[in-house]
Amino acid sequence: MLGRFLSSSGLAEDRCVICGAYADDPYQGYLCGNCMDGIKRDISIRPDRKLPQVQGFRVFSRYEGVLREIIRLVKFRRVVPLARRIGKAVAEDIGEYAELVSPDIITFVPVHIFRRWGRGFDQNEEILRGAGVEFENVLVRVKYSRPLARLSKSRRTASVRGAFRVRTRWRERIHGKRVLVFDDVITTGSTAVSVAETLTGAGASSVYFYFVAYED
Ligand SMILES: [Zn+2]
Repeated sequence: MLGRFLSSSGLAEDRCVICGAYADDPYQGYLCGNCMDGIKRDISIRPDRKLPQVQGFRVFSRYEGVLREIIRLVKFRRVVPLARRIGKAVAEDIGEYAELVSPDIITFVPVHIFRRWGRGFDQNEEILRGAGVEFENVLVRVKYSRPLARLSKSRRTASVRGAFRVRTRWRERIHGKRVLVFDDVITTGSTAVSVAETLTGAGASSVYFYFVAYED
């Protein structure tokens, strides 16, 4: 469905990548106004994930509809402007949550360097750039694993255990800090728990999470 709006050289210039309508402002991330309006906070979500070692978290919306399409376009078709667009959509909400938990550091769940090379960018980093949030690059993903979506919950947990470490230059500075971590999608929460274990193990005083999309 989306394929016909994407040429081999990139995106068609003036069509919305989701619905195909002529975009009002194609330079604002290839989305028409209608589809943009489809990305908004869903306060009806009652997350039931238990995330040990995570002091608190907020989710922006459900992993469905326009938001799901956009996240998939960013990851699998490497559409960086759309990552920035997601950032703009969640900027206010992240700001609000950051005010609530007052973190010392905001950072993100990174992809493995192999995936970054393949994709050319890290989507979480680009979303935060789009949001205009000041963030630090604290974590490294040291385990390269298959896409988690194909694994069962117990296999996911095993696959992300020990998958992260704190960058050398942050080892001393992370002590006693409140950290807010950004990730695009929460599915089982295994990744978040693994990150929280790593940060707490390195001396962080508390770990909070912000997710763009919640997968039921
Ligand atoms: Zn549209």
